[in-house]
Amino acid sequence: MDKVEKKRQKEQHVVEEMIRLYCRKKHPKEDRQAGQICPVCQELLDYARLRSEKCPFMTEKTFCANCKVHCYKPEVREQIRQVMRFSGPRMLIYHPVLAVWHLICSKKESKK
Ligand SMILES: [Zn+2]
Repeated sequence: MDKVEKKRQKEQHVVEEMIRLYCRKKHPKEDRQAGQICPVCQELLDYARLRSEKCPFMTEKTFCANCKVHCYKPEVREQIRQVMRFSGPRMLIYHPVLAVWHLICSKKESKK
């Protein structure tokens, strides 16, 4: 697997974990099947995956959070921003390694 592909997979993994966390805490249990996320969040995740899949900047950019601004459609962008805002800080507790990686990447990107 090449480097870009690896980065892509990692990015998708981070987004998935963030959405899962958000759904678990924010959405009613009744909307979810055991171990699953609700249909709304599933749709969001599918969209995020698709964007990542098609992202032409994968080689240069470090993480999608910095770049979503350009490629997500507005209503989805708002959705994902809420997820990031909620799950971002909490990722430190649940997925410290991913969270730190995400943080470093975002920092690097904003320096440019
Ligand atoms: Zn949900």
